[in-house]
Amino acid sequence: MLVTKTIDQFNIARKNLKGSVGFVPTMGALHKGHLSLIQRAKEENEHVIVSIFVNPTQFLEGEDLDKYPKKEEADMEICKLAGVDVLFVPTTNVMYGSDELKILAPKIKGYILDGFNRPRHFDGMLQIVMKLLNLADPHNAYFGKKDAQQLSLINKMAENYFLRSKIVPCDIVRDYDGLALSSRNVYLSQDEREMALSIPSSLQKASQIIISGKLDAQIIKKSMIDILEKNVSSIEYVEIVNRDFEILDSVELKNTIILVAAKVGTTRLIDNLWI
Ligand code: AMP
Repeated sequence: MLVTKTIDQFNIARKNLKGSVGFVPTMGALHKGHLSLIQRAKEENEHVIVSIFVNPTQFLEGEDLDKYPKKEEADMEICKLAGVDVLFVPTTNVMYGSDELKILAPKIKGYILDGFNRPRHFDGMLQIVMKLLNLADPHNAYFGKKDAQQLSLINKMAENYFLRSKIVPCDIVRDYDGLALSSRNVYLSQDEREMALSIPSSLQKASQIIISGKLDAQIIKKSMIDILEKNVSSIEYVEIVNRDFEILDSVELKNTIILVAAKVGTTRLIDNLWI
């Protein structure tokens, strides 16, 4: 595995990859969720590139940029064992200059839900994904459904900017107890983790209601909120949208995503279920 840090090093490594390339951008502190994306990229491409970069422009003032978990050596080992060809680990100075041209998320879909609670987060996310896709120039780029709104906006950017890479959505990987894997789970104490389990439980409840034939969004959201209220510190949103992120009154089978964002202690967690 080639570890590259500068644009020149990366460009040389990229040029030497002949054949199809799969790309997995991450912020590191790798877990089995990331690994599933890397494995899928391995299966579907001749070469795999992974990037690790904690992107400052997608963090808001007061968020966890400075304490975002870092596990450089373990990450490198995971990538090596997974058969990654090129690992890109740039610094902020490598990725950003001064007075940069910006990419703005769409006015509505970029500023609802996570974009409402974290204004400009998606601008920064799209900016770094655009930079990384331009550098890696992959045939396929792999993103988790865990970050459903992120995935939807990346798809929109790919469409609006005529990007050549295919955006491949990947299923959510959960821990043994049902909690969606996230680099931020390390912030949770044992007690908080117990409480955080109400998030996947609320999604399971939603699934049971839908299976029983009730598709009304208000009924589903109410029972989810009942479960969450008893456990989490604050609910940021419980929402039911279609794959285009339009809010639904009624579940549309095969075209619905049920979304939760909540804080447990000071840790913000998101999770969702694709129906
Ligand atoms: P991050 O390092 O959190 O920016 O995540 C990098 C990529 O991994 C994103 O496309 C995420 O959606 C994806 N990802 C994170 N957690 C999971 C998970 N539990 N299951 C599947 N994909 C995930």
